[in-house]
Amino acid sequence: MPKALIIGGGIGGLATAIAFDRQGWEVEVLEKAAAIKEVGAGLSLWPNAIRALDALGLGERVRARAIEEGSAGIRNSRGAWLSRADTETMRARYGNPIMIHRADLLDMLHTALPHNTLRTGSTVTEVRPDGTVTHSHGTSTGDVIIGADGIHSIARRAVCGVVEPRYSGYTAWRVVVSPTAPVGDLGETWGRGERFGYAGLADGRVYCFATANTPAGAPSDGLAELRRRFGTWHDPIPSLLAAADDAAVLHNDIYELPALTTYVAGRIALIGDAAHAMTPNLGQGACQALEDAVVLARVAAADEDLTRYDAERRPRTQMIAARSGRIGAVGQLASAPAVFIRNAVLRLIPSSAQSKALAPVLDWEC
Ligand SMILES: Cc1cc2nc3c(=O)[nH]c(=O)nc-3n(C[C@H](O)[C@H](O)[C@H](O)COP(=O)(O)OP(=O)(O)OC[C@H]3O[C@@H](n4cnc5c(N)ncnc54)[C@H](O)[C@@H]3O)c2cc1C
Repeated sequence: MPKALIIGGGIGGLATAIAFDRQGWEVEVLEKAAAIKEVGAGLSLWPNAIRALDALGLGERVRARAIEEGSAGIRNSRGAWLSRADTETMRARYGNPIMIHRADLLDMLHTALPHNTLRTGSTVTEVRPDGTVTHSHGTSTGDVIIGADGIHSIARRAVCGVVEPRYSGYTAWRVVVSPTAPVGDLGETWGRGERFGYAGLADGRVYCFATANTPAGAPSDGLAELRRRFGTWHDPIPSLLAAADDAAVLHNDIYELPALTTYVAGRIALIGDAAHAMTPNLGQGACQALEDAVVLARVAAADEDLTRYDAERRPRTQMIAARSGRIGAVGQLASAPAVFIRNAVLRLIPSSAQSKALAPVLDWEC
């Protein structure tokens, strides 16, 4: 039986293990953490990702623990709509996007893994070009080696040398809140160099996220900073922040990878953030990792050269990463004249045009 050796037990690594197992391969997952865990935050899964989950046999289970996203759009800080998504047309055209808690998705992926295939507490220190992987418990190898070890990937060095992630110019906060009242329409609010968004989760809690232009590594005082920055914005933002718990606030600077020249070297392939860490503006990072998993397993099982995976995945993921970066650049505009023009343009774009523009991202089929 051929074997897939997977480095990293995040969303991408676990999905890849399931995808190879379904193709009849032996799998081994090396994960440095002592236990599989995810950060306490929401995750939007678009219809393209749901098709990938269907291909992994998990679509129904995931849908049952998620919530369909409601009507959405972009507002200014006073609450006036700048743009509204044509949710009905989007649903009819592409399918329903869903929102899920990250821990729930990871739990479902973990549960679907074949027994005794996950080796936690295994930190990979080197991946040699011949496919030998050195880790804290010795060495392992496989017929295909998959680097699913995230933005600071060790495996990436064996594929394309050292490539440093670059700072996007903005930082992000995430927090899951138990609201005191229903929050209604979800969506984002764009200010000057700052954004705030929220979306309901299946259990009634609300996932909130926010961004602000800051130098890389700038310290944050968590909830106090969020309240300072966003506490006077439109309802329900102040009440969501009032209900938030400081200890639950996650804070990360947003980094992305420059476009790699290849995702594959010999028997080694990169997936997910190891290959194409992108800014979160399109909510597609994990969605693309799920697509990668399905395509890589299909290519490997058909005994095709892994360059086929590279050819299929690299243009698509790099197109999506570039789009996401552009949305972030527009969303984070800070000067008053630029924001004035941006908001005026947003008001003029018909929702049908927005919906159509998403076709190259959402139209993916397995
Ligand atoms: C603020 C924010 C919001 C986002 N929102 C969305 C969203 O709504 N929708 C969406 O689709 N995406 C979203 N994303 C992107 C998404 O989180 C990532 O793209 C996705 O989690 C990447 O999964 P991964 O498995 O490739 O990498 P990771 O989740 O980084 O997993 C890598 C795994 O490898 C392990 N590892 C690392 N190094 C080693 C080593 N040397 N040895 C062994 N194991 C190792 C790590 O412990 C980890 O478990 C968001 C990202 C951010 C920052």
